[in-house]
Amino acid sequence: MSNSHKFQAEVSKLLDIVINSLYSEKHIFLRELISNSSDACDKLKFLSLTKPGIIEDKSGFKIELIPDSKNNTLIIRDNGIGMDKEDLINHLGTIAKSGTANFLANIKDSKSDEFDLIGQFGVGFYSAFMVANKIELTTKKAGENKSYLWTSDGKTGFDIADAKKDTQGTEIKLYLKKDQKEFSDPIRLRFIVKTYSDHVNFPITLEQDGKSETINTASAIWTRNKSDITDEQYKEFYHHISHSFDEPWHKIHYKAEGSIEYTSLLYIPTNTPADLFQPERKTKLKLYSNKVFISDSIDGLIPSWLRFVNGIVDSSDLQLNISREMLQQSVILKKINNGLTKKIMSELKTKSKDYDSYKKFIDSFGPVLKEGIYEDFEKRADIAKLCRFASSTEDKLTSLDEYISRMPKEQKSIYYITGDNIDVLRKSPQLEMFNMKNIEVLLLTDPIDEFWTQALTSYEDKSIKSAQNVGNELDGIKSEENKRTGAKKEELDSLITVLKANFAKDVKDIAITEKLNDSPVCLSAEEGQMSIRLERLMKTHQQQTAFASNRILEINPYHKLIKKLAKLAHSDAKDKKLKNACYLLLDQAKITEGEPISDPSKFAKRLSDFIIDSF
Ligand code: ADP
Ligand code: MG
Repeated sequence: MSNSHKFQAEVSKLLDIVINSLYSEKHIFLRELISNSSDACDKLKFLSLTKPGIIEDKSGFKIELIPDSKNNTLIIRDNGIGMDKEDLINHLGTIAKSGTANFLANIKDSKSDEFDLIGQFGVGFYSAFMVANKIELTTKKAGENKSYLWTSDGKTGFDIADAKKDTQGTEIKLYLKKDQKEFSDPIRLRFIVKTYSDHVNFPITLEQDGKSETINTASAIWTRNKSDITDEQYKEFYHHISHSFDEPWHKIHYKAEGSIEYTSLLYIPTNTPADLFQPERKTKLKLYSNKVFISDSIDGLIPSWLRFVNGIVDSSDLQLNISREMLQQSVILKKINNGLTKKIMSELKTKSKDYDSYKKFIDSFGPVLKEGIYEDFEKRADIAKLCRFASSTEDKLTSLDEYISRMPKEQKSIYYITGDNIDVLRKSPQLEMFNMKNIEVLLLTDPIDEFWTQALTSYEDKSIKSAQNVGNELDGIKSEENKRTGAKKEELDSLITVLKANFAKDVKDIAITEKLNDSPVCLSAEEGQMSIRLERLMKTHQQQTAFASNRILEINPYHKLIKKLAKLAHSDAKDKKLKNACYLLLDQAKITEGEPISDPSKFAKRLSDFIIDSF
């Protein structure tokens, strides 16, 4: 009896991309299949702890490679956990990892940098179709009687039929493409295994001339001495566990001793993984107890703001026979979490001394790190110390400590401004006074910046403040501004009366500001109010028009335009022209703030009228 199934749409897409973009890296498929077999052995080993009789094959776990160069086939066989029918349909016909599916939906047809893109997630089982035009997979799940044969040509779908396999585990037979004969050559296979899968924890055997021989070292790399491990081996292990192609940006291999003991081998990737901001993304740390794999999705092993860290943690203090829930609650896990966090933070501190290298890290993971300022009450300031920010006066990214070291004596706070785009921020009217007084402002463009700035309100005794609501804090700091001459008081008052009459519903208040230089107006938030951008982020689904209603329209009394309008407002000629000009003023303030204006067609008409008048 045989059943035909279609691949989920994303699978076909993934197959396409894999085949087209990894053509120079075809051997990757072997790494992927061996790593699946190794996972399968890990899983059965773990299961046997609670079900001692479940392992039928007493000869020990192994992964066998059986090439047949005459017929151009390759068999990869393991005695791991195996799959039942449901597993086959769910794991080998759909992409279970939500991140990957979403990611695929997003990249569409951008052929150019597919290789870079594909490096961000694991290519997995399907990579075998790079070298095979047909795959037969027979499998029997541990603890079950039935076995199945899964076949596919990797194009549209797969068949599942009953099979007669009597041993536990999975056997994958690849019918190699004509031009992929190298993968049925034992010499080539031996070389690939040595290079990419040497550390795999189970023996990998290769059959050649009727004899079978173990070809890998088969020792858990993290249990070995640092001095015995080459850079290449570290890198190979990183690729094995992360399924990515980038170089590790940093590796941390250490043994913690004290009230609780564990060994850990951690990696920080160079590139941002595709699913980093997927809410479903689980930790990428594998948890072992004395080399026995426990889980790769234990919550609480590492804080979520360090979720970019890959690697393994092995602790013999963990009890294997307790449930996942109990494990997640355990004090030991909390202690390990704490230890890992401290270690990673101190390594980052050291790494931060090399600006260029650290900038790469910040570019990839800065926004995630900032989540820690928001989430981790205790370590908030220490995490902030590790963050880097763009600045209005510096070309390089700056730390908060460096910012403070540049502050003039009179300056009391650390100032920041938020927005979507760094170039727009640099020209923001909010910065004019700061620029005039030569005061540095941090330019923040990540959505998370809106949140951590609410959580961390001071750092090293300096308060952290939005440049939008500084009040009169800057008054004590000297600058050129005293030389400016502004509009007359009574004229300004008249203008404000006119503006208030027109904009009663549009803005909360009108005020004179000292902080502008080149711009006639700007909008700002009252102190303690949500910042303009935060409000925008929260409001994306609602109508935008009500937006400015709790803003203050600030006017620059030194600007030529304001002086002129003030004069006009004070004279008796309060005509329609003045009213139109006021509306243009408000729209201008919204536009420089990156806000939509409430009535674009009216705006256009008013502007045209003005242009006509001026010729
Ligand atoms: P990943 O290994 O990242 O989950 P793969 O595409 O490599 O993705 O494999 C998909 C799934 O298929 C695995 O998670 C596993 O459940 C199942 N699988 C693949 N190979 C084997 C195998 N040799 N034994 C048991 N299960 C397997
Ligand atoms: Mg895999």
